[in-house]
Amino acid sequence: MSPQKVSRKKSHTKYVFITGGVVSSLGKGIASASIGRLLKARGLKVSMMKLDPYINVDPGTMNPFQHGEVYVTDDGAETDLDLGHYERFIDEEMSRANNATTGQIYHTVISKERKGDYLGATVQVIPHITGEIIERMLAVTRGSKPYDVVLVEVGGTVGDIESLPYIEAIRQFGLELGPKNCVYIHLTLVPFINTAQEVKTKPTQHSVKELREIGVQPDFLLCRTDRPLDRKVKEKIALFCNVGKEDVFDVPDVDTVYELPLLLEREGLGKRLLDELGLRAKEPDFTQWQAVVRKIKHPTRTVKIAIAGKYVEVRDSYKSIIESFVHAGAFHGAKVELQWIEAEQFECGNARDLMADCTGLLVPGGFGERGIEGKILSIQYARANKIPFFGICLGMQAAVIEFARNVCGMRKAHSTEFAPTTKYPVIDLLPEQRGLKQKGATMRLGSYPCFLARGTLAHAAFGTDAITERHRHRFEVNNQFREQLEQGGLRCTGTWPGGDLVEVIELPDHPWFLAVQFHPELKSRPTNPHPLFRDFVGACLHQNEPRAREHATGKKLEPVTEE
Ligand code: GLN
Repeated sequence: MSPQKVSRKKSHTKYVFITGGVVSSLGKGIASASIGRLLKARGLKVSMMKLDPYINVDPGTMNPFQHGEVYVTDDGAETDLDLGHYERFIDEEMSRANNATTGQIYHTVISKERKGDYLGATVQVIPHITGEIIERMLAVTRGSKPYDVVLVEVGGTVGDIESLPYIEAIRQFGLELGPKNCVYIHLTLVPFINTAQEVKTKPTQHSVKELREIGVQPDFLLCRTDRPLDRKVKEKIALFCNVGKEDVFDVPDVDTVYELPLLLEREGLGKRLLDELGLRAKEPDFTQWQAVVRKIKHPTRTVKIAIAGKYVEVRDSYKSIIESFVHAGAFHGAKVELQWIEAEQFECGNARDLMADCTGLLVPGGFGERGIEGKILSIQYARANKIPFFGICLGMQAAVIEFARNVCGMRKAHSTEFAPTTKYPVIDLLPEQRGLKQKGATMRLGSYPCFLARGTLAHAAFGTDAITERHRHRFEVNNQFREQLEQGGLRCTGTWPGGDLVEVIELPDHPWFLAVQFHPELKSRPTNPHPLFRDFVGACLHQNEPRAREHATGKKLEPVTEE
């Protein structure tokens, strides 16, 4: 096929295209983010983008069991969880422009067609859909942010029907960019076959063959393996896949994902990438990164924290929370062990047994009624037994319900999300949410400022009066009940000035009881843990010390009793 004639303004940004082959779940997002880190460590300006081959406009309408966490950016886009990896690895804020889906691409093309923008033309996958994909890749680097390099991760696996337009688009775009302006990296699997006692290169050969049939010749191969590949195997892969033998890299399993950039650097990928892209940069600096990895790998103490969640079988649903605990743990030189508890279990089991050995409780965000009573019971136990508690979004709403019911005497207080006719709607729909018919992208999304009261845990953690944090919710503390709740002893320690919304609550008469309406987990970085996760883990570690526990409770811990 002859390349399409285009009259786009030349981009000075170099592109790295990353595809995956053989099977899914090889960790393409982590591998891409690690490559981003290699470039960032050299002082280059780097951004990243994910192309998702599904027809949903964004993952906001998908069930976490299907898709895992929905990552929210500052500008309020609901995006793929890989954007979380990108932010954590390259320490750059992502935005709406950094994630495109097939749904969005088609939406744009069809809207243009209806407007008459293609008047006379038959609108087709090639060139119109592929053209729009290229536009999206260029859009990342437009405006005030001229990046040196943009990494583009193509979702899915080579050979999927859905991924085809994306592979074709990166092929066309690569031709436009020309040599030394882009590279193609393919991530594959080199499995070890037990019966043959050998690693097998055939799946990789086939995957690359499939790419080459579409016209994409990878420059680098990253081979996921469970053992180092010897020279001969690499030479064989290089020969069959038409890649230089120094450009076949093995990517073994690592203890912590944050080790991967260091490993790839050691193998020489950073230097080779620079050569291929014709870029010059300073020597890489991994000092801080190395220090964090060392702390993660060699903790000096352990703390166990319970998570009462709803999607606990699919850990990807809580990806950013898990990573935030890794960052906070590293800060304290501690390993944070997470005890995952299906919230419904609190409804039939004993909280003390379920949370045995746990010195803290986190209740994360969520939607829907299932498990809500269990979450409320878990919080009651943590409150009454002075166990450090951290609530996030629905976790904060559950804490307010628990307090209203058990401390303020509002029997059956609830959120109107679950009990629309409750006598005590302590959590209610945000006013602007009333009457909304559309589900997609209509929550209160993205960054909003929050003012913190002095002399509070939140203020101590952030060390400032004003913060901004990211949101994704429709419900909120009902201000009609605020006075009653505060009279009962609940402190609203953080508020959004724009709408007088409660953003943070605390209980002063407790070692560490804090809950937030926003999602702090979205802003934690390995080298800069989120202040609330940092202090929550700190409080749990403190609680670990028997004397601190005795001091806090004044007695041996007992199961919660009816109040
Ligand atoms: N379901 C609640 C709301 O919409 C909480 C949302 C969340 O936890 N992200 O307000």
